[in-house]
Amino acid sequence: MTTFRLYNTLTRAVEEFAPADGETVRMYTCGPTVYKPAHLGNFRTFLFEDLLRRVVVLRGWQTLQVMNLTDVDDKIISGASEAGVTIGEITAPVVKKFHEDRAFLRIQDAEIYPSATDHIPEMVALVKTLVDRGLAYRAEDGSVYFAIGKLHGYGKLSRLDTREVKTGARVIQDDYSKENAQDFALWKAAKEEDEKTGAAWDSPWGRGRPGWHLECSAMAMRYLGETMDIHCGGIDLIFPHHEDEIAQSEGATGAPFARFWCHGEFLLTDGSKMAKRIGNVATVADLKEQGVSAAAFRHFVFSTHYRKQLNLSGEALEASLEGVRRIGDFAARLEAARGATPALETIAAEAEKEVVEALSDDLNAPAALGSLYTFIRRANAELDRGGQDRAAVEAARKTFARINSVLDVIPEEAGPDPELAAWVEEKLAARRAARAARDFARADALRGEIEARGISIEDGPHGTRWKKIR
Ligand code: AMP
Ligand code: ZN
Repeated sequence: MTTFRLYNTLTRAVEEFAPADGETVRMYTCGPTVYKPAHLGNFRTFLFEDLLRRVVVLRGWQTLQVMNLTDVDDKIISGASEAGVTIGEITAPVVKKFHEDRAFLRIQDAEIYPSATDHIPEMVALVKTLVDRGLAYRAEDGSVYFAIGKLHGYGKLSRLDTREVKTGARVIQDDYSKENAQDFALWKAAKEEDEKTGAAWDSPWGRGRPGWHLECSAMAMRYLGETMDIHCGGIDLIFPHHEDEIAQSEGATGAPFARFWCHGEFLLTDGSKMAKRIGNVATVADLKEQGVSAAAFRHFVFSTHYRKQLNLSGEALEASLEGVRRIGDFAARLEAARGATPALETIAAEAEKEVVEALSDDLNAPAALGSLYTFIRRANAELDRGGQDRAAVEAARKTFARINSVLDVIPEEAGPDPELAAWVEEKLAARRAARAARDFARADALRGEIEARGISIEDGPHGTRWKKIR
């Protein structure tokens, strides 16, 4: 097999990648701020990370993926304050929705989804280390700031010069207490609003809450150790978020925080180009409403390389719907085939090699899709010819399954009715919660309820899948 190569933002070059321990890829993917449901732009980034994850598995490695849920920040706090509730009351339904949307898009489960508010002690400990090492200071306002001038190499990821850093940073007018306008907050002194909404905790510097970047450093190191293999996010996170994650983590440990930094480009919307048939879509709910299947949206996202901008247009979604229809038809035909000409085996082997090569070349999913279509065209021609070779069909099935284990672009045959689907999702969410609470009797009862309506469910490494069997 060829080597696996990834573009590393840190070096600005495509480099050969293998996990440090030779077995498990330890990756951290910055997750959603759970203030309101994630939009399709967010999901483009999560799909790029899903692609990476699946290619890692295709290459024979294991994954240890951490995706954080940012459940305390300015918007959440002001939202909670306006509604007269706690931050948890704002974020809980959004977290639930995030997992539902993610499951709809067939984004595989990360191994760990830690939330910021569950890791305050880790964050306080990290700030303490930075203060002890002379890299952070408590200002008069009771907040703690990172002194970027004290860290050698600050800016190495974004490669911004000091002048750019200054204009890029969100310099707040009333932050006079900072020693340097570019210093960023590690710990923010609590305001009345924070206390009122349950967004304040005790610390050696008084009541307060974590700054934006702190959670990712603390939780990444807690679950992945001082040095991880790959850190991912959307391109907008390079500065200041990832730069500051590096400062916090490397300032505390002296070890490299991540070996590879991978960033996905943005999804854009171009109103004027939005289709006649498929109107404006911004969320997963819109996709469902417009009849755009998960398979079609995945196909649409994977049709463009993750490091190129992608425009959300009705035409492109239509083309992807048509594309996955073809792929689905081929899957059904292959499933039903009883024999083929021996040539099909060679065709399958060639396709598999091409797809693995494309995906290993900095996740070139568009090229992989191209090879899949070539495979479908050639295989269809062989199947048209007839033939008795069962092994050839088996080989083609295996190849197709292997390719689809990464792309996951077969549409559901006939979609179940939306009301039933919503009911099942709700029951599955309750079952997940019951299992998390180790209430297995309740979880089993919920399974029974689901099965009683003719739905079979299957728990796999990628979460729970269900289908209607009668
Ligand atoms: P947020 O919920 O804002 O913290 O963002 C979650 C993830 O979505 C981050 O990795 C962002 O970089 C990414 N993201 C935000 N907007 C877009 C977009 N329009 N296209 C692609 N990724 C995005
Ligand atoms: Zn982060």
